[in-house]
Amino acid sequence: MQLTGHASSQETIALFDKYVIPNYGRYPISLVRGEGSYVWDAEGKRYLDLFPGWGCNILGYCPEPVVAAIQDQVSRLIHVPNTWYTEAQGRFAEFLCSRSFGKAFFCNSGAEANEGALKLARLHFDGKRPKIITCENGFHGRTFAAVTATAQPKYHEGLGPLVAGFRYAPFNDLEAIASLVDDETCAIMVEPVQGEGGVNIPDDGYLAGLRKIADEANCLLIFDEVQTSMGRTGTWFGYQQWDVQPDIMTMAKGIAGGVAAGAIIATDEVSPSLRPGMHASTFGGNPLAMAAGLATGQMIEEQNLLENCQAMSDQFKQFFEQLQNELPIIREVRVRGMMIGVDLNIPAGPAVGKCMDRGLLINATHDTVVRLLPPLNVTAEQVEEGCDLIATVLREMADEA
Ligand SMILES: *Cc1c(COP(=O)(O)O)cnc(C)c1O
Repeated sequence: MQLTGHASSQETIALFDKYVIPNYGRYPISLVRGEGSYVWDAEGKRYLDLFPGWGCNILGYCPEPVVAAIQDQVSRLIHVPNTWYTEAQGRFAEFLCSRSFGKAFFCNSGAEANEGALKLARLHFDGKRPKIITCENGFHGRTFAAVTATAQPKYHEGLGPLVAGFRYAPFNDLEAIASLVDDETCAIMVEPVQGEGGVNIPDDGYLAGLRKIADEANCLLIFDEVQTSMGRTGTWFGYQQWDVQPDIMTMAKGIAGGVAAGAIIATDEVSPSLRPGMHASTFGGNPLAMAAGLATGQMIEEQNLLENCQAMSDQFKQFFEQLQNELPIIREVRVRGMMIGVDLNIPAGPAVGKCMDRGLLINATHDTVVRLLPPLNVTAEQVEEGCDLIATVLREMADEA
């Protein structure tokens, strides 16, 4: 009954079969070690990972300064609750807010951040404006309000009744949003770039249009930046790509370099509505996650990784646009920073297994989209290696189609 550190994939799978609820589709591989963009399985096979940790490992596996910060913090304090102050939470809040706006509340995940943001929006209007508008194909998490906000019927099946008060509009359609907003609406919530929905990048005027609609209706604009924060799009936060500031922003995934952490940032006008006693998170803002988050942010800054993100983004974009000329199965290439979607006119699912066989980890989403969320510190050589493998696989799929 102890951790040996050297169980085979088969041995670990046997444990799962017996003791772990099988709600995930898992690949039959147990991962044991990672370094940068590479990860090794229990049998010693190495993979180049262009989708590390579903975007949580924003600096790849075990980035050295983050590991060091965690090691230092873990020997002094692992956890203290929010009945006390810790420097780590204050410093990480300072880091995030000085690169965005307002004040921070910390939690542990994306869904939890969105739950808090939605509560804050209703509280801000003293419960008199219960309506919340979100977009089709969005993704906001799996807890009840977050999954209700997620306007995709496949995630709602069998769960009803869902949380009341939500209305849905197609993404990138300002008129549809405007037609739903009324004086009972407390908030419009969208992802600046839809991630799970297929790397959907809005038209340039979209976020500004939402800002205008929200201002005219005197309701709040919430950006779910769970996936687009911490440099993912090439700026610290996705909204900065279009220079449109929300009233509330949520984040999680990569903000602490792979340690579980989430946050809400709210403007100085809105944040007091999260008044004492109305919301809390026992683990939120714990020193371990905050030290990891601060080290993650500092590493991005010190190693100029926002610039690297943009340069590698251009390299991916060029490669896939060229490949699109060669392969008619590629319908569209959508790239923003280290969010990459290659939309096919055939199912994208088979690409994942074919890449894995060749030692490359990628993702497929929304049926037809090959999706990559490479770390901000991916190198030009790794981009080339990954792109060449994906091209080989897509050529094979084009031949079979
Ligand atoms: C992943 C994701 C979430 C959910 O985050 P969890 O940490 O899994 O709860 C919410 N919103 C967006 C945009 C995401 O990408």
